[in-house]
Amino acid sequence: MPIYPIKCPGCFRGDAFSKIADVVKHDGKVRCPSCGKLAEQDYAAKGVSVVCDELHGTRQRPMCVRASPEEVPELRRRFGDKGGANWQDDGRVVFKSKSEAAKFFKREDELKRAGAEKKAAKGGGKTERSRNADFGLV
Ligand SMILES: [Zn+2]
Repeated sequence: MPIYPIKCPGCFRGDAFSKIADVVKHDGKVRCPSCGKLAEQDYAAKGVSVVCDELHGTRQRPMCVRASPEEVPELRRRFGDKGGANWQDDGRVVFKSKSEAAKFFKREDELKRAGAEKKAAKGGGKTERSRNADFGLV
């Protein structure tokens, strides 16, 4: 199950596990592991480690965000003005600011949800690990 950073208004801020199908069902919200209510994802938190790395002079990209170079033009098109420019020619993602990262991950989440809905509609349970598979492109 993927991990989602969430912020529960009442009690919890941190990482929570959830099935993608549940996140889709609850419109992007993730169940709080502490109180059980649905909480918003903490989109800014997803980018925090990225920005911290940048401050310490290391590569500013999260390992989980990576595509093959051939996928980049399509990913740029899909992300549009909400992160398309963050995709580098070699498939890496680079952020210049925390807000850029937050925007990017929010868009990524939208695309994943759209893809998961498409997959669900087809009745497929594909687990292929390509970025485009996440977005329902293949
Ligand atoms: Zn809670």
